[in-house]
Amino acid sequence: MFKERFHFKLILSYFLVILISFILVPFFLHRGHVFFGIFLSTFLAFGLGLVVSAQTMKPVKKMIDVVRRFSEGDFSRTIPQDSHEGIGELAVTLNKMAQDLENKIREIQTKNQHLEAVFSSMIEGVIVVNGSGRVVSINAAVEQVFGITHKGAEGRIFLEVIRNNDIFEIIKKVLAKGEFFSSDLSLSYPVKKIFQVNASPVFEKGVVSGCLLVIHDITEIRRLETMRQDFVANVSHELKTPLTSIKGYVETLLDGALEDKDHGRKFLKIVAEHTERLNQLITDLLDLSTIESQKVLLLSEEFDLKKLVQRVVCNYHAQISKLRLEISNELPNDLMIKADPGRMEQVLTNLIDNAIKFNKPGGFIRISSNIMAGRIGIVVEDSGIGIPHNDVPRIFERFYRVDKARSRALGGTGLGLSIVKHIVELHHGSVGVESTDGFGSRFWFSLPT
Ligand code: ADP
Repeated sequence: MFKERFHFKLILSYFLVILISFILVPFFLHRGHVFFGIFLSTFLAFGLGLVVSAQTMKPVKKMIDVVRRFSEGDFSRTIPQDSHEGIGELAVTLNKMAQDLENKIREIQTKNQHLEAVFSSMIEGVIVVNGSGRVVSINAAVEQVFGITHKGAEGRIFLEVIRNNDIFEIIKKVLAKGEFFSSDLSLSYPVKKIFQVNASPVFEKGVVSGCLLVIHDITEIRRLETMRQDFVANVSHELKTPLTSIKGYVETLLDGALEDKDHGRKFLKIVAEHTERLNQLITDLLDLSTIESQKVLLLSEEFDLKKLVQRVVCNYHAQISKLRLEISNELPNDLMIKADPGRMEQVLTNLIDNAIKFNKPGGFIRISSNIMAGRIGIVVEDSGIGIPHNDVPRIFERFYRVDKARSRALGGTGLGLSIVKHIVELHHGSVGVESTDGFGSRFWFSLPT
């Protein structure tokens, strides 16, 4: 349309020039000024041509100006749709195209914002690297893990940003082979952690153009796995020892020892002891599992702590006098606390039992208290064998024992202190120990008042 109009104007201007020439040339020819006539008609034709072309190009220039703005991302203007100028249809098409383009850009921007939000709020570290091993982007989790900042990271070689050769090797493998790769990675700096690195190739037109790394922190999962394996191994071992003995003695009894009155009785006594040990172990395990499951219902009753300690100590009367232990209950009279009395008895029984078991003949046990800022602290102190410095941090772990043989011989399961810790923590309290190897221990727990 525009083209036709343009041609029409051009033809019209030629027609006018010819018409003027037809009038002017004979006029000047008649007067004898041929050259002047030709010059004048040429000048007029040139002027007319300029006016026509300027008129025709005006809307085109306007259009070019607006289209240039479109290309710069400015869609605030539209091309005037002057149909009489003949470029109306083109203007409509360009305006529609600009509108579509603007909508598409907005859509992409919104999607990008969503992606950006997901990217930065992910717990997993995400790194995108291009085909030449340069960082395209990293998220906040990566910054935290590797102690870096994403500012200035983009565009730099991966190893300059994260000095980890193992990850770089994974990137190289993925870029070279274009295949998914997964590996576990131990990091000792800036923090000691274990990660699972999942690396996938990024394709562009069928060619590997980069690599996307997702880094999961699996430290806690691995710790729990190890704990579970250790626990299963410990339980199996603890159960197997008395069971092997019971099996051995029962077989000996069946093989004839039952008829031997002296030996038969002795063997049966050993079987009974091991059965009791098994029973104790299973009771402790069940107890620990109930407490750990957090499903246990705690009573909240007010009771006299000094009287509770007295009752517990009374149960150990025989052992105390056998070892000639001096035991002093230094808790103030009428020391009332609000807790689960049954569970508190369990805590005190375990601590006092240990203080007796691991004491020296003629030693002492002191039970005292201290009250500080909203908390009450109970201390069970003994003059026993103490705990070696290196064992102190692990003493509250399940099955952890300084001297396994001694603990077993004394009927211990290695679960007592673990049960103590869990019960106290269920009461929102804390436990601790100070000990000097060979010179006694000081176990304490504190509860909110
Ligand atoms: P158990 O007493 O059944 O062996 P515990 O969990 O109660 O298990 O105690 C774990 C270990 O801590 C004991 O085997 C012992 O080595 C050490 N321990 C606990 N209490 C004392 C104490 N008062 N003095 C010295 N060692 C202790």
